[in-house]
Amino acid sequence: MSSPALPELAHTPVGHIPVIHSTLVRSFAAHLTRPLSFRLTQLRKLYWAIKDHEKELLEACKRDLGKPYYETYLTEINWCLNDIIFVCKNLESWAREEKAKDIPLMHAVTRPKIRKEPLGAVLVIGAFNFPYQLSLGPLVGAIAAGCTAVLKPSENAPYAAAMMQRIIAERLDSSAYTVVQGAIPETTALLDCKWDKIFYTGSATVGTIISKKAAETLTPVTLELGGRNPAIVTRNADMRLAARRLLWTKHMNAGQICVSQNYILIDKEVLPTFLEQLKVAIKDFYPNGVRESEDYGRIVNEKQWQRIKKMLDSTSGKILIGGTMDAETKYLEPTVVEVTDPNDSLLTEESFGPLIPVVPVSDLDEAIRLANTIHATPLGIYPFGSKAEVSKILDSTRSGGASINDGFYHASISTLEFGGVGDSGSGSYRGKASFDAFTHRRVVTSTPGWVEGLLSIRYPPYKGKMEKVKKMSEMKPDFDREGRVVKPGWLVWAFLLGGNGFVQGLGRWAVILAVVFGYRGLRERQSKL
Ligand code: NAD
Repeated sequence: MSSPALPELAHTPVGHIPVIHSTLVRSFAAHLTRPLSFRLTQLRKLYWAIKDHEKELLEACKRDLGKPYYETYLTEINWCLNDIIFVCKNLESWAREEKAKDIPLMHAVTRPKIRKEPLGAVLVIGAFNFPYQLSLGPLVGAIAAGCTAVLKPSENAPYAAAMMQRIIAERLDSSAYTVVQGAIPETTALLDCKWDKIFYTGSATVGTIISKKAAETLTPVTLELGGRNPAIVTRNADMRLAARRLLWTKHMNAGQICVSQNYILIDKEVLPTFLEQLKVAIKDFYPNGVRESEDYGRIVNEKQWQRIKKMLDSTSGKILIGGTMDAETKYLEPTVVEVTDPNDSLLTEESFGPLIPVVPVSDLDEAIRLANTIHATPLGIYPFGSKAEVSKILDSTRSGGASINDGFYHASISTLEFGGVGDSGSGSYRGKASFDAFTHRRVVTSTPGWVEGLLSIRYPPYKGKMEKVKKMSEMKPDFDREGRVVKPGWLVWAFLLGGNGFVQGLGRWAVILAVVFGYRGLRERQSKL
């Protein structure tokens, strides 16, 4: 493929940012983005913008991250295109007004419903490692929900950022969607504006800055942050599968993936077999060597390369496989290091690179204890073992998501909601969750005039009304003061047909009566024939 010409990144003048903000606020207030037809047209235009510029988008990631075209296509282009089609197909049903659930009978007359309203003018801040998916993915959610939006791509993937600006400016309505380019000064100017939502993907350190700034104006945030994700490999796991799968999740994008495992806790009995299988897998994936392969990316910039190198330099662990690096080409060989100290730099920091620390453990209990100590709320957890062992791991740990018998499979399904927990993030997106992330569920009731007589119970004077209200609306507990469930007497049970409460009992009676009368009616008709 001949290299297409690419635009260069140019930072947006800081002075322009308040003007951009007020344009988007005005467009939202003028209801430009509310009609579904407008949103669908913009999404369809974005689809074709990506499709028509596929070559340039692939090349931009190659220049920014040395990313193989195949990886960019699989994890970015194909992802975004399918995401848009999925959203377009479902938008009408997601945006439809919902009848509220779980409404007590006495309130049903007000017909509570939920309207799906756009949050307003929103800010999306993307990260460099999957520059399209992590920027355009949330933007698709914002467009679908009916918001106006500014996208601030990561300046650390400059060609990808410039390409996104080009296609958005060329194809989308610029009074509703625009790209602001830049680094800290430009992002700070953006954060000085009042948004209706901020969607941020990146490090926890910057996530804290964003959260503090948003808190000043009570702006809601979704935070998609990093994690020190463990993989746990027990003696009952399939070593060949575990090695191949965990190698792939650290080789892709040269390990610059928020959901890949940061370290592997492995039963010491099976460590030698696992290492053998890792060597076999490396040879399989890169028959002519990793460095020579076109299928292996590079570290995004000198700063990140130095950071990962420093982590490796300061480990007290023993390098078992790899270790080669080259500053000039920002190459870092996938490197397996045996680590025994839980305070080792390779475990206490997120590598966000191709480092594979393996921590030998005596049993599953030790693995779980270490996983909970090293980082209690990672973005993902990856158990490999028997069914019972996997259940035990899931029952005794926390994480944003989990993939059993694989590294981050759960995060590779574009329609499955994705997000962290605790300090690995809050809120989720993807598929319908992207629409929800930018939507306010506005609850509406409508009180008819004719219920005024019934409503008089709520108006002063209150004297004598307490007892009436208790009778009308107080629910009966099915538990005692010790928290034990109190079974209803057989008479009540028979009256409710075992249902939990009056409404359920009534429903069961209705079903039985419908069946009985239906059957009788059928018999009568048959006897007349
Ligand atoms: P990055 O350098 O691309 O920065 C992310 C964004 O933050 C950029 O748009 C950048 O301009 C902005 N930013 C940086 N400093 C800022 C500041 N002081 N004030 C305001 N904005 C600022 O990416 P990064 O932060 O190095 O990303 C790596 C981290 O992101 C890792 O921890 C990784 O795990 C995490 N990550 C998480 C996800 C996820 O979906 N949960 C995805 C990708 C990356």
